[in-house]
Amino acid sequence: MFDHPSYDAHESVHMFHDAASGMRCIIAIHSTHLGPAAGGCRMWNYETGEAHLNDALRLAQGMSFKNAMAGLELGGGKAVIWGNSRTDKSPELFKAFGRAVESLSGRYYTAEDVGIDVADIEIAATETSYVAGTNSSGAASSGDPSPITALGVYRGIQECAKRAFGSDDLNGKSVAVQGVGSVGGAVARHLAKAGARLFIADISETDLKDVQADTDATIVDPAKIYDLDVDIFSPNALGAIVNENTLERITAKVIAGGANNQLIIPEMGEMLRRKGILYAPDYVINGGGIINVAAEISGNYSREWVDRKLDTLIETLGNVLDRALETDSPTNLVADRIAIERIGRG
Ligand code: NAD
Repeated sequence: MFDHPSYDAHESVHMFHDAASGMRCIIAIHSTHLGPAAGGCRMWNYETGEAHLNDALRLAQGMSFKNAMAGLELGGGKAVIWGNSRTDKSPELFKAFGRAVESLSGRYYTAEDVGIDVADIEIAATETSYVAGTNSSGAASSGDPSPITALGVYRGIQECAKRAFGSDDLNGKSVAVQGVGSVGGAVARHLAKAGARLFIADISETDLKDVQADTDATIVDPAKIYDLDVDIFSPNALGAIVNENTLERITAKVIAGGANNQLIIPEMGEMLRRKGILYAPDYVINGGGIINVAAEISGNYSREWVDRKLDTLIETLGNVLDRALETDSPTNLVADRIAIERIGRG
């Protein structure tokens, strides 16, 4: 663990197994300096335990940085369940997951991430109170965080466009959207309303058809989405999509999307800068959902508070982009420096 390349002084890493339901989960807590760790739960069918651990470590660290950049009194953590979200789900599995979260006594709060929906979190909530993103706690509920994440991503794309094209008007701009699930689908709908020309790719036919019906987007092969001659590339599926293989293929002037951990290694940020691509650091642009979750954790959900925090987050993103452009620095490193400084203050 302590030699693992993705280990970044995480405070604790917990492995849970429930034999009866088959639940296998890692909860990684990166930092509680600013408050209890918070971050969604992902369910994914990893090829190896090593890949499972690596994802948990990287995602938890990303949450620390994300929560700090969103100005929240929350640390960073993440739960990752190893399994196929289409075939392995059961009420028993999510109850076991809820008990695992409960056993950490509030050091970690969970919510939805890839492969997990509100219904799953509601089952976990029967075993623990350290959850957010539910529908059933009445006025205190925040529901699915994805629409707020998507709104933040859309507004973040406008901030990038302002700097890359001189205007935040997206009318006529071409955008490749990778992944049209909860976040990507909503981002595509915002973009279509603004008059953007859309190209969408996903491995799920149903999601593609739904989004195409609403946006008139052109569907492209997921393997070819990197090769399109577009103004903006918006990754909204999985991580590590900016890598040695894709770097040369992406010719968009902006990369801005909701996916976590988009750069396979931090050095990709400098390579993007050299290519003249403006990259919106993922954990800044996609912080809307965790703001919504934080409002629920506070016990006093208010949409006005969420909107104010989102405005501040978008301002922070603008400051990161400006500072990076002024100092010829990669945007991800500028954001990292601010996040580490804020966590250090905690
Ligand atoms: P989701 O599961 O609803 O959507 C992901 C979509 O990506 C699915 O439609 C899936 O079929 C598609 N996909 C998977 N592999 C693909 C591939 N190779 N090519 C194209 N499409 C592919 O998940 P989501 O909640 O929309 O999250 C998307 C990303 O945003 C994730 O990286 C997640 O961590 C991040 N994120 C989500 C939130 C949130 O509020 N949901 C907040 C912050 C960050």
